[in-house]
Amino acid sequence: MNTTPPSAAAAAVTGMSRAAFWLMLRRIAVFAGCVDLIYLVVFFVLGMPVMAIVNVVSLGMYAAAWHLLGQRRNLPAVLLMWTEVLVHAGLCTVLLGWASGVHYFLLVFISAVAVSRAARHATTALAFLLLVYLGLDAATQLIPIRYPLPNEVTTALRWLNITVVFVMFGYTGRYYVQRVAEAEARLREMATTDAMSGLWNRRHFLTLAQGQIERARRDGSAVALVLADIDHFKQVNDRHGHDAGDRVIQHVSGLLHGQLRAGDLLGRWGGEEFILLLPGCDAPGAAQLCERMRAHIARSPCEAGAGMIPVTVSFGVMPMPVDVPFEQAVQQADAALYRAKGAGRNRVVAAAA
Ligand code: GH3
Ligand code: MG
Ligand code: MG
Repeated sequence: MNTTPPSAAAAAVTGMSRAAFWLMLRRIAVFAGCVDLIYLVVFFVLGMPVMAIVNVVSLGMYAAAWHLLGQRRNLPAVLLMWTEVLVHAGLCTVLLGWASGVHYFLLVFISAVAVSRAARHATTALAFLLLVYLGLDAATQLIPIRYPLPNEVTTALRWLNITVVFVMFGYTGRYYVQRVAEAEARLREMATTDAMSGLWNRRHFLTLAQGQIERARRDGSAVALVLADIDHFKQVNDRHGHDAGDRVIQHVSGLLHGQLRAGDLLGRWGGEEFILLLPGCDAPGAAQLCERMRAHIARSPCEAGAGMIPVTVSFGVMPMPVDVPFEQAVQQADAALYRAKGAGRNRVVAAAA
């Protein structure tokens, strides 16, 4: 039984990628602020104090956006960054000319807007960005350049801008992909493992088991199915509380897992019930392995707040003939387990093949 409801798992991952988006935006703010700083020096050296002052204001806006994003006040931060980039890139493009390449900065916002989750607003924002971009292109053809720069300086600025835009695209793209990959890995883990025990959940165990059984069928090798159930577990809950019961499940999970060989599969089948698939194990081999697990658990009590809780587990072993359907093998393993319980618990019983 997977203890994490799918909706909670999805929400956790959505939250992660959302957090990644805002973190990415915060890094864009830092990067853009650094570029503003470079420009501040450049304009100062070129003797253009008005342009340098505009950059000081821009730097302040990015610093404020960075601060707001840190406080999760995302909307004012985004508005501030939008205003900065639109006004600043627009102003510089008109004042210095299209050839300065300042307008390329606006392109970085295409990816930032496209990966945002507000899809409805994203389309509007992209359309707006396109209009501004085309409007700037038209405006620079109509309005004479206010601060003409020597050709070499214009070329140097343009190359600087192109480089900055490449770095920004590359960096933010890679960063975002990494965060999304992390979120995916987390989602995969949530979908395949049982949160409490860390073992495969029932669904994923079945998927993996089908593959192993198919392989055994092809190779003609033996495979055994085992159901294991903690004895008198209800009493553990009743005497020591539900939390101690959870700890006992985790304890047994760890002990079982520690005894596995490469290729063995172990999953949580239900509450205090476990399922194992042992490839390459015939009936005596599987019984021997289970006996080792049983003895190991019986001499390893679980440490709980109140003291040590003795734990024993019963095993039902089913050597799987190749032509038996999986569900039927589970039923027979369950019948063997039932017999182990009836015979006094803390024992291994094998079903007839
Ligand atoms: P038996 O030896 O015959 O297996 O007896 P048992 O008491 O172990 O079995 P029973 O089926 O009577 O009780 C199992 C109990 O396990 C009942 C249920 O409340 C409890 N349980 C199921 N899942 C969990 C869980 O995740 N955590 C805890 N603490 N208890 C659980
Ligand atoms: Mg039980
Ligand atoms: Mg049970």
